[in-house]
Amino acid sequence: MGKPTGFLEKDRIPAVKRSVSERINDYREIEILPSETETEIQASRCMDCGTPFCHNGCPLGNIIPEFNDAVYEGNWKYAYEILSTTNNFPEFTGRICPAPCESSCVLGINKPPVTIELIEKSIIEKAYAEGWVIPSIPSKRTEKKVAVVGSGPAGLAAASQLNKAGHHVTVFERADQIGGLLRYGIPDFKLDKSTIDRRVQIMKQEGIEFRTNTSIGKDIKIKQLESEFDAILIATGSTTPRMINIPGSDAAGIFPAMEFLSQQNKRNANISLEVNHKGENYVNNNILATGKNVVVIGGGDTGSDCVGTSNRHKAKSITQIEVMPKPPVGRAENTPWPNWPNMLRTSTSHEEGADRYWSISLQEFIKNEKGDLIALKIGDIVLENKDGKYEQNVTNIREIPCELALIAAGFLHTDHNELVEELKSQKVELDERGNIKASNLYQTDSQKVFTAGDARRGQSLVVWAISEGREAARNIDKFLMNETKLEGKIISTFDLN
Ligand SMILES: Cc1cc2nc3c(=O)[nH]c(=O)nc-3n(C[C@H](O)[C@H](O)[C@H](O)COP(=O)(O)OP(=O)(O)OC[C@H]3O[C@@H](n4cnc5c(N)ncnc54)[C@H](O)[C@@H]3O)c2cc1C
Ligand code: SF4
Repeated sequence: MGKPTGFLEKDRIPAVKRSVSERINDYREIEILPSETETEIQASRCMDCGTPFCHNGCPLGNIIPEFNDAVYEGNWKYAYEILSTTNNFPEFTGRICPAPCESSCVLGINKPPVTIELIEKSIIEKAYAEGWVIPSIPSKRTEKKVAVVGSGPAGLAAASQLNKAGHHVTVFERADQIGGLLRYGIPDFKLDKSTIDRRVQIMKQEGIEFRTNTSIGKDIKIKQLESEFDAILIATGSTTPRMINIPGSDAAGIFPAMEFLSQQNKRNANISLEVNHKGENYVNNNILATGKNVVVIGGGDTGSDCVGTSNRHKAKSITQIEVMPKPPVGRAENTPWPNWPNMLRTSTSHEEGADRYWSISLQEFIKNEKGDLIALKIGDIVLENKDGKYEQNVTNIREIPCELALIAAGFLHTDHNELVEELKSQKVELDERGNIKASNLYQTDSQKVFTAGDARRGQSLVVWAISEGREAARNIDKFLMNETKLEGKIISTFDLN
């Protein structure tokens, strides 16, 4: 343990953010990296607990007390070595993970938890700056070839691990760029896309082949992959949006959040807006919130990203509505420490301005004679006690102006397209939610075919995608070689969707 009294002497100092007035004028990242000294002070707050719950809360099993201690001691290179044994991409999780580790940090019982995520980001950024992140080319290659379908965090983590094991790895991606939702979905102000390019460059030097603009099932059939590769990993994500079918839902001006968000990612990168994140033609390739009354339907993270992007477009007004009741400001009683807390979350995008309403029933999209969206009819959901039984009623029905409605009501399942049809014809089953079914070895009913990430577990988190990619890679390596030396997950019992 670095400093036995650190947590008594020093307060938690979270990341400093650029001012709202400055940041809403650009798409650059919001957080400012603290100095090394500041990070070392934050790391000194770690108590090196006998039972480190942080470590248990992390889906990757990151060895948090050890890297905190190394940072406190100023031994940053060692901290990087510890961190990279469990996490292929700390530069992604250090920026956008909701940090379940911090929610389960023991210090959090009666004081603000250790700033684990910020320490993680500081370690990896220092590692890049010092030139410690270098291609690690396997000394011996096997004769085995593995195809990874999908280049999101699950596919990338698996590719990295399988390459480390000496296999020849090719990543197929239907979009024009590598990264999955990291690239097209998550706004640049949360994750600068140069962090993906920097990592992909290293992976290429390590010997991994990337093939973009290649949709498996359409451009290349699974059957062909099976004849050319010894194993296939399906890491295609889960991006079929839940749409809302109520009167007026054919009005012009209603779009799935991902169409809106991916367009802005493309604009920022000066990429043509011909095709969307799925490689398909956009229904409308100029969705802008500028000067409009925007309503974001759905109170989660995707909705919050729409709020941040709409503010940068200079919308006239931004309203976010959610069907569920408003969560409590602090930890709800039914999610005590060390669980992931049910509580009100105010993101950096919310700080930039939006009206938020909960317990809202969306009744109708109202359009004008030309078919353009002009308003939403909404009401408040109230619970009424009728003879001891609770009934849900909608009151205070009203209209709010809206020319752009962004649907961020969650994702149903992996895309049911040519790829899934072909897999089904090979006896691969879908689970009850419509995602790809696999054993606990990440193997489908077709022996050579494995699956990981959102395609298997449904829309989740980047940290889970990396964890699944790593675990699938271990199982593929075992399948190919009868044994594996790839690191396994050390411990993780909490599941967070
Ligand atoms: C708007 C938004 C914001 C989010 N913000 C956060 C956040 O802040 N923090 C967090 O932890 N999580 C966040 N998430 C969730 C997180 O991004 C996902 O859980 C994660 O990216 C899943 O990784 P994956 O690799 O399984 O799939 P994806 O990232 O979806 O990648 C799948 C890839 O497969 C490709 N593909 C699909 N079909 C084919 C095919 N047939 N052939 C070839 N390629 C194919 C897709 O084009 C895509 O590139 C967010 C999600 C969204 C939508
Ligand atoms: S639970 Fe918190 S204080 Fe304890 S070891 Fe982990 S980071 Fe340090």
